[in-house]
Amino acid sequence: MGHEGTCHCGDVRVVIHDDPVEASECNCSICRRTGALWTYASPSRVEVIGEGVGYLHGDRTLTLFHCGTCGVITKWSPVDPGYDRMGINLRLFDPGLWQALPRRAVDGASW
Ligand SMILES: [Zn+2]
Repeated sequence: MGHEGTCHCGDVRVVIHDDPVEASECNCSICRRTGALWTYASPSRVEVIGEGVGYLHGDRTLTLFHCGTCGVITKWSPVDPGYDRMGINLRLFDPGLWQALPRRAVDGASW
């Protein structure tokens, strides 16, 4: 079993198999605009149903995805398939899963 989150319209669904332990807020140029709240996991521990639309920017090491229908940010995936880490937007999930988690500030703006 895992936790299932969806975008607003339900076209994209994401299942995570581990409980998130903290919620990361990133200040990079796109995260500060979208307001995503990140948890990170190995792609092997995450199922994504419906890919959405990818957006590659900056140093082009990761692709940020949003639903093509409702526009909600869903995840980021590494461009390098050998990089065993992806980001999942906790806001897709029931607030009971993430609202009380410690917030971590990620300084993506300085990378
Ligand atoms: Zn959607």
